[in-house]
Formats: sequence, structure tokens, C-alpha cells
Amino acid sequence: MKKYNFNAGPSILPREVIENTAKQILDFNGSGLSLMEISHRAKDFQPVVDEAVELIKELLDIPQGYSVIFLGGGASLQFMQIPANFLIKKAAYVNSGTWAKKAMKEAKHFGEVVEVASSAEDGYTYYPEFEGKVPADADYCHICTNNTIFGTELRRDPDVPVPLIADMSSDIMSRPVDVSKYTAIYAGCQKNMAMAGVTMIIVKDDMLGKAPRELPTMIDYRTHVEKGSMFNTPPVVPIYSLLETMRWLKKNGGVEAADKRAHERAEALYAEIDRNKLFRGTVQEGSRSIMNLCFVMNDEYKDLEKPFLDFATERGMVGIKGHRSVGGFRASCYNAQTMEGVNALIKCMQDFEKQH
Ligand SMILES: *Cc1c(COP(=O)(O)O)cnc(C)c1O
Repeated sequence: MKKYNFNAGPSILPREVIENTAKQILDFNGSGLSLMEISHRAKDFQPVVDEAVELIKELLDIPQGYSVIFLGGGASLQFMQIPANFLIKKAAYVNSGTWAKKAMKEAKHFGEVVEVASSAEDGYTYYPEFEGKVPADADYCHICTNNTIFGTELRRDPDVPVPLIADMSSDIMSRPVDVSKYTAIYAGCQKNMAMAGVTMIIVKDDMLGKAPRELPTMIDYRTHVEKGSMFNTPPVVPIYSLLETMRWLKKNGGVEAADKRAHERAEALYAEIDRNKLFRGTVQEGSRSIMNLCFVMNDEYKDLEKPFLDFATERGMVGIKGHRSVGGFRASCYNAQTMEGVNALIKCMQDFEKQH
């Protein structure tokens, strides 16, 4: 049976990305060696990193003066690496969800953290308003643009009076971004860019080296900028899969087209969530994510949660169970998600409704 992958991360990738990466794993560029066996310093691998960086710069239209680096450690390592490099005295954080809160926790190791806005008391069901609330003397303002667990999204580049830093792990490459508004953007790449194992960071070069502390070599972004992500062994296979995903994205119209497709998918699925008598959305008007679509059973049908999950699983739906901290359902519709997949889920919801 055909499977439809709605996993929140690691998540769906284009079939051709997986096939091309698999080929290189068996025989890298006709070398007779596997991509898993070559040195990251092999002459054939440098072009992989170079092309990946170039494509990211092209796709996001990154201005001069920014570097793109690849590291391990996930977005979670960035929760500490960002403040280590940028927090001088005080940083402003928007508490918009679980990941944003984790980022705040790590920043507290390095200085004062001001929570400028929060939707925690309302169960993170909306994206809190924060633009007018950022103190002008903060070293930076940190936001998480898409809250993967709760399904809320900002989906625009806000205006704040201080340097802006964003965790874009779950909506990167799904829309055009005005990178010039940011000092740093980071993303664990396993949602929308690659297989798991690589983290991408875009940093504004002239903002580096200002932190008033001795940074361990690996934590200092300058190390990785200067060495072109080759200070130590980078995650070779994940970076290759990232390159293939960026090639696929470019071939398919770049981030503008990805944005349009994401809107089409989300509109169709939200329309069904709103129409179907069994379900309702969990996110307030204006904050609905078009990457992670969260919904629950209506109160009078609460007992049908498990039966619907079983029903959908039997029909090939994978990964629609909501995050363990939230419950209900979550359909993640990243760049590689198809309208066919979304329509299959909609059909599932309609067929299940007819039985009740
Ligand atoms: C998945 C996710 C993370 C955590 O990423 P890791 O790479 O597992 O550390 C952080 N932030 C957001 C928004 C995420 O979606």
C-alpha cells in the first residue's frame, strides 16, 4: 500500500533526493567508494559543500556579508550556541512554543533573558504579538518562526529595533525570507532540507566576535565560517542529501513556488478540518501554520480519536498523531508533501465521517 508521510521530523523528502543520495552511497561519483567512506576533504566532496552553500544563497536570495555553515548538534545545540556568540548582557525572547522555551532556557546560561511575549497561558494556541515590546537595549531578539508542535506560524519577517535571530527549523525554504532583517537564522535540516544529521546556520559576518567571553573553538561561529564548515568532519551524507534537496527545490520553482504549493495544501486541509463535523482546528485565527496542521476530534466525538487513527493508518497515513505533549492530530506538510497526499488524508476524514 502507498504510504503518505505526514511525519513532523525527520520527515518527507522528494523521492528523487532519496534515490540520488542512495546512488551516491553505493558509488560516489564513479569513484568505486561509497559516499559513506570518502574523506570530507576528498576533492570531490568540496564541490558538494560549495554547491549546497551557493544554492541556499541563491534560493533565499541571501545578501552579501552573510555566511552559510553546516554543523552537527541539531537546532538544539543552536539554543546555546546563539547566546554564546551573541548575548552580551540581555536578550529578548518570544515564548511561542516548546522549542522557543527551550531556547530561552539555554540562553539563561549566558545572561539576562527577557520574555517579551508569550502564549504559554493559552496553551500556545496563537503566535503572540511582540513587535512593539522588544526593549531597544536588548542584544538581539530571538523568535521561532514556526512552532512545529502547536502548529502556529509567524510566516513573515517582523520588524524589531534590535538584531533579529530566528529558529526556522520547520519552515525554512518554504517561503521567501528577507534575510537582510536577520543577524542569524538557523535550522535543523531534517524538516525541510535534508535527512537528519545536519544543521544550517546563516550568520551576518560583521556581527561575529562581539561576545565578551572566551568561546571554546567549536562553539565560536568564526571557526566554522573561516574553515568553510570543514574545521572538523561535517555530516557528509546529510549534506549530500541537502544538496539534492536544494537542486530539487530550484528545479521546482524555488521558495516562491514552494510557498504557493504550501498554501494550496494547507487551504485544502484546513477547509476539511473546518467543514468536517468530527474535527476542529486547535489554533486561533491568524496563527495557523501551513507547515504543521494541528486538529482534534470535536468534543462530542472524543472517543473516536483512536478509531480514526487506526482507520487512517490502515489507509496509508503515517505520522498524523499529534505531538505527545498536545495529543490529537498533526499533519506536517513540508515542501515535499504532495497534493495527492493531502487529498488522501482529506478522503480519509470524509470516509470516516460518513461512518458516524
Ligand atoms: C525540530 C525542531 C527543533 C529541534 O531540532 P533538533 O535538530 O532535533 O535539535 C528546534 N526547533 C524547531 C522549530 C523544530 O521544529
